Amino acid sequence: MPSILILGGGAAGLMAAAAAAENGARVTLLERNEKLGKKIYITGKGRCNCTNLCGPEEFRRNVVRNPRFLYSALEALPPEALLARLLDWGCPTVVERGNRAFPASQKASDVTRAFERRLGRLGVAVRLNCRAAAIAEAGGRVTGVRLETGETLSADAVIVCTGGVSYPATGSTGDGYALLAALGHTIVPPKPALIPLTSREEWVRALQGLSLKNVTLTLACGGKRLYTELGEMLFTHFGISGPLVLSASSYLAGRNPADCALTLDLKPGLTEKQLTERVLRDVGAAGRKRAQTILRGLFPERLADTMARLCGIDPFKPANELRREERETLVRLTKALPLPVDGTEPIAAAVVTAGGADVRQFNPATLESKLVSGLYAAGEVLDVDALTGGFNLHIAFATGYCAGRAAAAPPRGT
Ligand SMILES: Cc1cc2nc3c(=O)[nH]c(=O)nc-3n(C[C@H](O)[C@H](O)[C@H](O)COP(=O)(O)OP(=O)(O)OC[C@H]3O[C@@H](n4cnc5c(N)ncnc54)[C@H](O)[C@@H]3O)c2cc1C
Repeated sequence: MPSILILGGGAAGLMAAAAAAENGARVTLLERNEKLGKKIYITGKGRCNCTNLCGPEEFRRNVVRNPRFLYSALEALPPEALLARLLDWGCPTVVERGNRAFPASQKASDVTRAFERRLGRLGVAVRLNCRAAAIAEAGGRVTGVRLETGETLSADAVIVCTGGVSYPATGSTGDGYALLAALGHTIVPPKPALIPLTSREEWVRALQGLSLKNVTLTLACGGKRLYTELGEMLFTHFGISGPLVLSASSYLAGRNPADCALTLDLKPGLTEKQLTERVLRDVGAAGRKRAQTILRGLFPERLADTMARLCGIDPFKPANELRREERETLVRLTKALPLPVDGTEPIAAAVVTAGGADVRQFNPATLESKLVSGLYAAGEVLDVDALTGGFNLHIAFATGYCAGRAAAAPPRGT
């Protein structure tokens, strides 16, 4: 019976422990915190959007870095299989808008409890307040783990599930990067993803509190369009946030904002021609009323006043005195308003970490290291990250599942 040490009791580690024990291994799960799954508790605003019930292609389209690495893992544990397991373990789920799955109780803690029950039944030994400090290796093979206390534990396999570096209060402080780097693994520098963006621009900050629905945000870097989506965004006291912005930030991760352009289409339902015609109609209808009337017909009041300034339009002059260039500028900026951003909030505030252990050094079917046999990695510690919608947790569960299963019953030849 192989003995397996799992480092980290988050989504990846919990699933790796279950899969390894189900496949006959003697499993010990080491968690540095006083309890398991601290990050799971805060996911989905406490409701835990645990997976997304879309097909594998759509799933991979939502993965920003290294989607192809996930082919095998998504096949081994598709979203339906995860939900079936949770149901079996006493945590029924419901599927909401956008295929997002949540525990039916709407309580993230129920997901962690389901795993705790399962691990208890499988006889997994859980050691809390137990921080791994180094992984021991001899002759290219893992031999065990040294703890922060100096104690050493021997094992046939070690699965690193220590997460990224975002929300460090949950225990994810990047330990896994150092553990893996010490064994020769390359770590792609961690960067914040799914994170609000900062702006020093006075007009952006002045709009704080304003939320926009049904707008299209586009990110282009080096002339290439990386992201464009219809949805919601929000102006804040430091810059911009909201679902569209968080997603765009994932594509911005690792790039210099100065080389990228973020633009907002405030009227995505109208073509430039249709908008031009609408403005002309509005001008005709407004006559000698203030130009402000037209802007306020197009946008919420605060945005209308800002747009007037950005377009260089005197809001108090009669609408029918608007010059052609002013109308053209209004149409141009309405369809593509540049949002000047200069960076992101700190990585500690990121929903997910981009970067991490280079996936080229791991076998995608088993999650085993190509450098050290018996060494595995799963979850956010790997250089794989996705958009919101349950994808990141599912990646952790699915890669944890493959790693646990393979470590317990390594395919012949390894
Ligand atoms: C606020 C917030 C909301 C989110 N909401 C969602 C959501 O609804 N849906 C979704 O799909 N994703 C969501 N995510 C992302 C998702 O939570 C993570 O991608 C996922 O939890 C990663 O799981 P993991 O097991 O790889 O790492 P983690 O959950 O970070 O777990 C790593 C564990 O390892 C432990 N550890 C670290 N170092 C050591 C060590 N040296 N020794 C022992 N133990 C160690 C840590 O204490 C921790 O428990 C959210 C993230 C945040 C921050």
